[in-house]
Amino acid sequence: MTATRLPASDPLVAQVTAGLSRLGLALRTHAWRDTAPRGLTPTQAQVLALLQASATPLRLSAVAAGLSVTLPTASDAVKALVAKGLLAKSKAGDDARAIALSLTAAGRDAAESGARDPDFVAAVLEALTHAEQAVFVRSLVKMVRTLQERGDIVPARTCVTCRYFRPLAHADDAERPHHCAFVDAAFGDRSLRVDCSEHAEEVPDVAARRWHEFVAVSGVLGDATSAATSAKDVLRGP
Ligand code: SF4
Repeated sequence: MTATRLPASDPLVAQVTAGLSRLGLALRTHAWRDTAPRGLTPTQAQVLALLQASATPLRLSAVAAGLSVTLPTASDAVKALVAKGLLAKSKAGDDARAIALSLTAAGRDAAESGARDPDFVAAVLEALTHAEQAVFVRSLVKMVRTLQERGDIVPARTCVTCRYFRPLAHADDAERPHHCAFVDAAFGDRSLRVDCSEHAEEVPDVAARRWHEFVAVSGVLGDATSAATSAKDVLRGP
């Protein structure tokens, strides 16, 4: 299912931009409240979180890209973290002239202590029904993947790019139509991961096929009463 092209002048674009900006402001405000007592700025805390989520040390340019900040901003945060003993610099594995950044033991502790999810996000989600939460998470995954494809964000560890993801493997089950081969369990849209520590990147052509299967039933699974038959019909094709 392909969405029609939306002009930037469409009022929906302005309204979604305003809504996302408000949510971003709320996240940043809470980040300040959470990180200040730990002696970190939100950017420094984000650098720790990014390196904690990365399987390998990262270069400064990758840190800047991962946080969507400028190189000087990333550099300032990294310098402060190195001075605090939370980050270590070493030679990059693929280029002896380049510097790679990794967490020290103290940095890992700091990253773990800051990994708490903000309570206000839980409060926001409580305002949604289970069906709305599922549609929200599904939409979030699609938006993150689109940004990733455009090069606007660094690759995220989402289900839709994971080797273990089997979309619609249980098309008869409206609540839990997908399958995670890592834990060998069925799950629904509400449990789709945007950042999963068990994620393993799928090869591009298989990931593209799975993505097509996943989006082919957009708008179908939100309706639990017709999901089982509709999902099967979509996968079966004309
Ligand atoms: S391992 Fe994680 S990212 Fe991969 S399919 Fe399972 S839950 Fe999704």
